[in-house]
Amino acid sequence: MKKIAVIGGGPSGLFFALLARRRFPGAAIEVFEQNPQAATFGFGIVLAEGGLGRFRDADAETADAIMAASHITRDRIFSHNGDSILIEGGAFGGAIARIKLLNTLQALCRARGIPVHYEYRIENPDQLDASLIVGADGVNSVVRRAYEGQFASSTWYLTNRMAWYGTTRHFPSPILSFKTTPHGHFWAAAYPHSPSMSTFVAECDADAWTRSGLNRMSAEQRLAFSQDIFAAELSGHPLLSNRSDWISLPVIRCKHWSVGHRVLIGDALHSPHPSIGSGTRIAMEDAIALIDALAATPENQPQALAEYQRRHAPETAKLVDAMEKSYEWYEQVGEKMDSMDTITLAFDFMTRTGRLSPQRLHREYPKFMDKYATQWNAWQKSRAQPQSALAGA
Ligand SMILES: Cc1cc2nc3c(=O)[nH]c(=O)nc-3n(C[C@H](O)[C@H](O)[C@H](O)COP(=O)(O)OP(=O)(O)OC[C@H]3O[C@@H](n4cnc5c(N)ncnc54)[C@H](O)[C@@H]3O)c2cc1C
Repeated sequence: MKKIAVIGGGPSGLFFALLARRRFPGAAIEVFEQNPQAATFGFGIVLAEGGLGRFRDADAETADAIMAASHITRDRIFSHNGDSILIEGGAFGGAIARIKLLNTLQALCRARGIPVHYEYRIENPDQLDASLIVGADGVNSVVRRAYEGQFASSTWYLTNRMAWYGTTRHFPSPILSFKTTPHGHFWAAAYPHSPSMSTFVAECDADAWTRSGLNRMSAEQRLAFSQDIFAAELSGHPLLSNRSDWISLPVIRCKHWSVGHRVLIGDALHSPHPSIGSGTRIAMEDAIALIDALAATPENQPQALAEYQRRHAPETAKLVDAMEKSYEWYEQVGEKMDSMDTITLAFDFMTRTGRLSPQRLHREYPKFMDKYATQWNAWQKSRAQPQSALAGA
């Protein structure tokens, strides 16, 4: 009988355990989570339309439970120094409080008889007696660190800084607001994740981080400072902290996804960037790919683990590539904010990952593209006028 130990009770670990219970009903499955059951960091997360279809194919009950607990929006508002455009269209966005997503998955684990051991930190994965050890333990994974050389992992840090706050301001649609201040370049992405709460991710570039003095402040001072910077967006509502502090995000990649009977999924394998709202989707799709590979060759685990990487890496590469193009865009956003007007910056933002071609933009965001075309034509005309005046002289 298989003995499966999952380290980490985040979205990828809990979802993997649920899938494993279905595919291997006779297996002994246990999840180890260092935090208490009700604890989490941050506020809401975005689960884009594309990802939910996959979850439904893998486990309809879980997908429906997540969907029922999600808050659905569609359009978004893009602002640049107070000048705002409504961007209508595109796929719907579902957002859910991270704690609600975890509670939903935890309840399903209970219902399916999967033990989740809370406040149980694993220091060394080899202390576990299991035929399969799943490292679903996030960016600071102990499984990856214990076998860093064999996983051939690399880690480096982005220069921008961000904090994952919440607010009692309920935004009817997600907003993305860029602003040039006397302290430098700041921006925020906010989206509703419940009828009364929104997630508010505040960000700045490396120059603003030091110029504003944020680098020398306490967490409380940073929250107060952020509230002042984004006073217009917050309209008198407070920013809220849930272990929220300004951080620079790591970029973690692994050349090998398994070492012996130890395998990585989710953030432990490839760290996310929140700007494409797909970290949780990638993490949960890793869980699906791993269980599919294990179920395809249940008698040959080494082959299954090799197949997990061989089959799933090309799919993941597309989203990871989009994520890389997105964080590169954000790493240079200060220059763009200085040189572009609102609609041009919005267009540059929409096309930053290469996944939305101008044709697809026309199809999915026709009103936005009409606005963009009108402005672009006017700009072309204004460039042409002095030349024609010269030609007539
Ligand atoms: C600012 C910010 C905003 C984000 N916004 C979004 C978004 O909008 N949409 C989205 O999809 N994603 C978003 N993400 C990313 C998303 O949170 C992660 O991609 C997702 O949580 C990955 O799930 P996971 O299960 O792999 O890892 P995690 O969620 O990190 O879970 C890992 C779990 O393992 C536990 N653990 C760690 N070490 C041990 C140990 N040694 N022993 C026992 N337990 C351990 C941790 O306590 C944790 O519960 C955002 C991330 C950040 C930082």
